[in-house]
Amino acid sequence: MAKPRITEVVIAGGGTAGWMAAAALARFLGRDYRITLVESDAIGTVGVGEATIPQIHLFNAGLGIEEAEFLSATQATIKLAIEFVDWVRPGHTYMHAFGAVGRGLGIVPFHHYWLRARAARQAEDFGAYSYNETAARSGRFAKTDGRASAIPELTYAYHFDAALYAAMMRRYAEQRGVVRVEGEIGGFETDPTSGDLRALTMADGRRVEGQLFIDCTGFRGLLIGDAMRSAYLDWSAFLPCDRAIAVPCERSEAFRPYTQSMARPAGWQWRIPLQHRTGNGHVYCSSFMSDDQAAAALLANLDGAPLADPRPLRFTTGRRERFWVGNCVALGLAAGFMEPLESTSIHLVQAGIARLLTYFPGAGIEPADRDQFNRLSVFEWESIRDFLILHYHANARDGDAFWDACRVMPIPTTLADRIALFRASGRVHREHEELFTEEAWTQVMIGQGIIPRAWHPLADQPSGEDLSGFLATLRDGYRRKSAMLPMHGDYLGRMMAA
Ligand SMILES: Cc1cc2nc3c(=O)[nH]c(=O)nc-3n(C[C@H](O)[C@H](O)[C@H](O)COP(=O)(O)OP(=O)(O)OC[C@H]3O[C@@H](n4cnc5c(N)ncnc54)[C@H](O)[C@@H]3O)c2cc1C
Repeated sequence: MAKPRITEVVIAGGGTAGWMAAAALARFLGRDYRITLVESDAIGTVGVGEATIPQIHLFNAGLGIEEAEFLSATQATIKLAIEFVDWVRPGHTYMHAFGAVGRGLGIVPFHHYWLRARAARQAEDFGAYSYNETAARSGRFAKTDGRASAIPELTYAYHFDAALYAAMMRRYAEQRGVVRVEGEIGGFETDPTSGDLRALTMADGRRVEGQLFIDCTGFRGLLIGDAMRSAYLDWSAFLPCDRAIAVPCERSEAFRPYTQSMARPAGWQWRIPLQHRTGNGHVYCSSFMSDDQAAAALLANLDGAPLADPRPLRFTTGRRERFWVGNCVALGLAAGFMEPLESTSIHLVQAGIARLLTYFPGAGIEPADRDQFNRLSVFEWESIRDFLILHYHANARDGDAFWDACRVMPIPTTLADRIALFRASGRVHREHEELFTEEAWTQVMIGQGIIPRAWHPLADQPSGEDLSGFLATLRDGYRRKSAMLPMHGDYLGRMMAA
């Protein structure tokens, strides 16, 4: 008997993940599909998640959302970089900025020239050769036309109010026919033969039937865990923070176009400027710090008056062993959680949605499609995981018990190999389609104090004079061009008024 075409999709959970999925499926599948989203007002959402990476543009553009509308609906600001304060040791700072750093010559990436100039004491800090970092440090931003200049455009993402973004996604999805069911999911029905999900059973007795189920129930992982039994792989041996405390505060005068990540004795603190407030949070490891100490450290380091009571959150870093099992696909926190450190969670939601659309079933689910979806997801999660571990592992905060433990913790061989290669010859190994670019890896390796012993031999070709002239031209060009940009707040105001 021919299998029926899959046209009925049920999304369990209405946080950022659930409503992003609903919006994208409604946009790309169209009205021939019946999409239902079930969420519980009583349970609520995790309510954090304010920093993004530039890939968010693809998602918004795919939905046809205008930037000006998005900026005012979500109280968003511009993010050019993350500043890491005190991560290597107290008093030290560096940035992981988006976009290029310097300019490679021929086949040799820029950082090899920088390494040679640095060894000759002719180079400034690596960040001086990043246009994004130069603009971020001067608090400036504008969209410019990179074609008219040798210097490319700034590469940017956003900071936004996650609740307002989810609300925007909800409006978008409902306007395109997504049906919202409010209430608590009490259980589920599965097919006794295949084990596939058939329906969600609501606590009040209603049933919500479907053919494909998307689990966006957050840390609970109600469907992917309880129903489909996909194990949770615990990564806390590599990413040991397991708690966070979040609090918004009044926005300060300094309206920075970047996220700040400040190391603390057993974790780190984020500071994220939005238009209407500043988001703050302290991520920490409960084996090294009590909840009271964490809250006190956060409240002592706000740059404005708190606007709410601090909100505690608990998590275990890790991922689902399989993200798609039977007819259930996990997205968002139901799929796993690493760290908010490089703002990758919302990106992982978006990447999971894009992957689901690529492998979307026709008549019945092909195991080969599902396996490929899982393989690609595991690859993406593990390469992001390694990038995050690097920040913790490569530190010189001697004497802080938490940081001492991070320095000596065993790390995945994939990361150990990357560090060894970079240390030996300055080369960055990057797998095909990996999220973080060569520049991202280089900035964080150098930023965290991993300085290669050698550089590419071809970087020896320019004369010493030509090399320092090349570096100075880049640096001065970025400085000149940044100085001509408007202040970030002024530009935002203009963008929204346009
Ligand atoms: C401390 C912290 C900081 C973070 N910072 C960032 C960041 O800066 N950038 C970033 O990209 N990401 C960040 N994240 C991650 C980000 O918050 C999440 O990826 C994003 O909010 C998606 O969450 P979610 O929708 O999967 O889950 P949730 O927001 O928890 O939503 C779960 C939904 O499921 C529903 N639900 C659950 N159980 C039931 C039930 N039984 N019946 C009915 N409904 C149910 C809930 O009502 C809710 O609607 C952060 C996360 C944490 C913990």
